[in-house]
Amino acid sequence: MQTHLAPEFQGTPQGQTAETILRKCVHCGFCTATCPTYQVLGDELDGPRGRIYLIKQVLEGAEPTRKTQQHLDRCLTCRNCETTCPSGVEYGHLLDIGRSIVEDKVQRPVGEQLTRWALKTGLTSPLFAPAMKLGQMVRRYLPDSLKAKVPQAQDSGLWPTTEHNRKVLMLAGCVQPAMLPNVNFATARVLDALGVQTVVASEAGCCGALKFHLNDAPAALNQMRRNIDAWWPWVEPVDGSAGVECLVMNASGCGVMVKDYGHLLKDDPSYAQKAQRISRITKDLSEVLLTHMPELTSLVQQNQGKSLGPSQRVAYHPPCTLQHGQQMRGGVEQLLTALGLDVHLSRGESHLCCGSAGTYSVLQPVMAQTLRDRKLAQLSSLQPEVVVSANIGCITHLQSGTSLPVKHWVELVDERLKAHH
Ligand code: SF4
Ligand code: SF4
Repeated sequence: MQTHLAPEFQGTPQGQTAETILRKCVHCGFCTATCPTYQVLGDELDGPRGRIYLIKQVLEGAEPTRKTQQHLDRCLTCRNCETTCPSGVEYGHLLDIGRSIVEDKVQRPVGEQLTRWALKTGLTSPLFAPAMKLGQMVRRYLPDSLKAKVPQAQDSGLWPTTEHNRKVLMLAGCVQPAMLPNVNFATARVLDALGVQTVVASEAGCCGALKFHLNDAPAALNQMRRNIDAWWPWVEPVDGSAGVECLVMNASGCGVMVKDYGHLLKDDPSYAQKAQRISRITKDLSEVLLTHMPELTSLVQQNQGKSLGPSQRVAYHPPCTLQHGQQMRGGVEQLLTALGLDVHLSRGESHLCCGSAGTYSVLQPVMAQTLRDRKLAQLSSLQPEVVVSANIGCITHLQSGTSLPVKHWVELVDERLKAHH
């Protein structure tokens, strides 16, 4: 697609990146067919090709309007369109650029500004954990809309205390320790059973995705730099000893962000190289466990007396941040199946977003609920005993609409290893 950048964007890093991406788009519209917002709304401007056009027009000097902003807001950033695109258009990076330009030029209504501010500061604040605890204590008295955002308190068991030579770093996440603490504990226990110690750098915090997707790139980039500083002594110890084997992510939404640190900090001379290294050593938990398959299967077999035990029927929802953002498909299913679980994906629609998409479920509740209910109808038709996913956002969002238990898949692996701990 030929683009004639307006003078204000010519020669800027944003303008150059956007132009390179736009040049690849051949306007075929294949992406539109797999876009969830287009499927629900049927408006070209609520599909990827239409949004690409809107961003192109803004880059060419057209004045964006509130409507432009709303079409971009309604995008889930699920990146399903990237998986479908035959020309390799990096829609996600283009959208980031388009959104930040439109944000500077179009003022939001005060109510929206306040909600976005509250999400940006509240979810990453040290007060989030005590507030969640309080919410869980009074959960039964909360109105349904609020109850849906407050998962029931979990007993996360014990964190393993054995020291191992083999170590991995893990990002605990900003909301995960307060909302679903068992996910991190289960991860540490499973890795411990495999002889690998999980280290959490306490100064690391939110991966930056929350602020980044709420168009506060400067604050998000600072969170990324802070995380890199917190992780670096483990990646490259000052005493010259071997560093950690990798940085493991059990929330695919954080994983896709940290894998992008190298791109996002490429223009920062102090952090560009470190960010690239961090992105290179970042692995989704399924990637790490797949390299341990023989040991994992034999541990489960020992635990269950040579058979893999009764097969639980599991419906798996692959998060967009894993299957489209990180382009990783099939790994979780392979792992769980090898451990004796009966895993099913929703027929024909497993590529579609569940509507969670970070803070999207708060900012676009109608679309988020429509997509959630559509996803849950698909998953329940598989008649599972349990639904699993790989990202805290999807797990809590799906759980808010069903009485079926919704878990992180590593919790099932942990359960299968229980007698070992
Ligand atoms: S990221 Fe998802 S919602 Fe946004 S345009 Fe692409 S497919 Fe549609
Ligand atoms: S599928 Fe790719 S090339 Fe075709 S319109 Fe969509 S983004 Fe452009």
